[in-house]
Amino acid sequence: MMKTLLVSLLMSVTSLSAYDYALKPVKVTSDVHCFFGKPEIMDKTNNGNIVNSCYIDAGEGYVVVDTGPSYAYAESAYNAMKKIKSLPVKLVINTHIHDDHWLGNNYFTEQGIRVLGTDDFKANADISEPTRMQTYISPEAYAKTKPTMPTEMISTDTTLNIGNQTLELKIAKHKAHTAKDMVVFLPKSKVLIAADLVFNDRLPSVRSGDINGWLSALEDFETLGALHIVGGHGERTDIDSPKMTREYFTRMRDEIRAAIAEGLSIDETIQKVSMEEYKKYHLYEGTHRGNVEASYRVLEWE
Ligand SMILES: [Zn+2]
Repeated sequence: MMKTLLVSLLMSVTSLSAYDYALKPVKVTSDVHCFFGKPEIMDKTNNGNIVNSCYIDAGEGYVVVDTGPSYAYAESAYNAMKKIKSLPVKLVINTHIHDDHWLGNNYFTEQGIRVLGTDDFKANADISEPTRMQTYISPEAYAKTKPTMPTEMISTDTTLNIGNQTLELKIAKHKAHTAKDMVVFLPKSKVLIAADLVFNDRLPSVRSGDINGWLSALEDFETLGALHIVGGHGERTDIDSPKMTREYFTRMRDEIRAAIAEGLSIDETIQKVSMEEYKKYHLYEGTHRGNVEASYRVLEWE
């Protein structure tokens, strides 16, 4: 009796300390593997596995792009990568300040690994408030997560040479998905990790961004000559992976501009620009109206 109790107690302690996301890496190119999250809102079932993150093999080690929604996610991802090739992590990059992309940071910083992000973290990431993940995912999955800012922040485009890779870190010129969105381009394998400038399967959110800046950032990064484009959400990784995001916002902008020209109010515009064909995408209900509203507020000043 006592022994059974002890065993079950021990088992619950073990599972509490190491929630396993059971992540499976997908090979994008011979030197890039990514983890693809579900096209959902974070909850206690998916535990924040709603986001993509990538590992770049630089020969002597990995460069990690985005660390996911929790410490346990970052740990689970790295454990899965070690089974493919057991390399140390040389550098971590955070693409932007939304917390599904960087709450795994402290898994790496506690090992003394550098984390690079933009100075938007200093300006806009608030780590004093409970994070969305802390609020919506299970305590088991969130355990050990301590919101940890990048150890180094950059404000302009930067090129890094790490092992056998050159990494071009490019920052969107204007507010786009957020105030500062960073993408990572690998000239060797022509992979563009476009983070949240590219969504698939689910609708993108521009509520903390700017529709014009987003569309011009997509145009700018198109000139890099990528053959594989990995977004922050969605599994598509071919050259046309930005298509849905681009078409969605282009059409939204055209329709809102037309509504403003007709003199429609913001509420009338939200009613009118319902873009029904996009209902087939995940998160239409929770995202679309907010996108129209935020974009009307930008476009009414043109
Ligand atoms: Zn985001």
